[in-house]
Amino acid sequence: MQLLAIGECMIEMSGGEDGCWRLGFAGDTLNTLWYARAGLHPADGPVGYFTALGTDSFSDRIVDFLDEAGIASGAIRRIPNRRPGLYMIEQKDGDRAFTYWRDTSAARGLADDAEALRAAMRDARMIYLSGITLAILPAEGRARLLDALRAAREGGARIAFDPNIRPALWLDEVEMRDAITAAAAISDIALPSFDDEARWIGDADPAACARRYAAAGSGEVVVKDGAGPVTILSEHAMTDMPVPPAAKVVDATGAGDSFNGGYLAARLNGSTPVEAARAGAAMAARVIAAHGAIIDLPETSDWQTG
Ligand code: ADP
Repeated sequence: MQLLAIGECMIEMSGGEDGCWRLGFAGDTLNTLWYARAGLHPADGPVGYFTALGTDSFSDRIVDFLDEAGIASGAIRRIPNRRPGLYMIEQKDGDRAFTYWRDTSAARGLADDAEALRAAMRDARMIYLSGITLAILPAEGRARLLDALRAAREGGARIAFDPNIRPALWLDEVEMRDAITAAAAISDIALPSFDDEARWIGDADPAACARRYAAAGSGEVVVKDGAGPVTILSEHAMTDMPVPPAAKVVDATGAGDSFNGGYLAARLNGSTPVEAARAGAAMAARVIAAHGAIIDLPETSDWQTG
């Protein structure tokens, strides 16, 4: 397997202006996988998603959605009497507002079984997770996931991590910082967004943010900063990569996720970090020019689940 993403896929309801809601499926780690897949060659192996779902019909629909997209779903845990998380997107004062129902979602149990984690990670060349993956887990599950990632890394997998800081999902900020630092320590690639890090951790500038993640243990740090330059710290060299001006910004939802997808696919294909940042910015530019976190990409049509 080229790339395994681990996290929560939710039911997304959007539209609603005329009383009709459109059903979709999304979640930060799935969005990143979706865009990474567009930049990877099917012949180099499948991509997969790991989470926990219920045994209800909406969980089945998520699995069907993944299967149709050519994303391997075979390792996903199914927990009876639990259901997927849900969010609804409304238009409010010209902006998109999100309301979530995810406190008891099945995905919170994704790390309950150490053997299921090991089986999912087996043979993965790269494993991607985010701070949201960590935030939704109980403390024991989080520790189990980090142990499994450590073992996978010792077995040769590369770990990629977007801290995606969302304090609302954490019970306390100290726990949040500790978990994010622990994940950074076992990450080969960290992909923070500067606005989150400045707001919640207090980094003065993207270079300070990059240095902090490198000090925590991340070998390669890529700091996104909206329309500002991407800051890359790799092999002790700091590089700023200017982001080409966007032709059109329609909806910035999914900018960071799609950047990560383009970046990770390029790194898996052998690009340098600076080349990969260019690929990430190009992917994000396409996504912010359209509505929604997941947009159709023509390259994905020839994917088959391996
Ligand atoms: P997040 O969605 O995590 O907050 P950012 O807003 O930092 O992420 O954006 C991620 C990437 O998306 C940026 O590095 C850049 O490549 C692209 N991007 C975001 N906003 C713009 C913009 N206004 N113009 C051009 N590119 C953008």
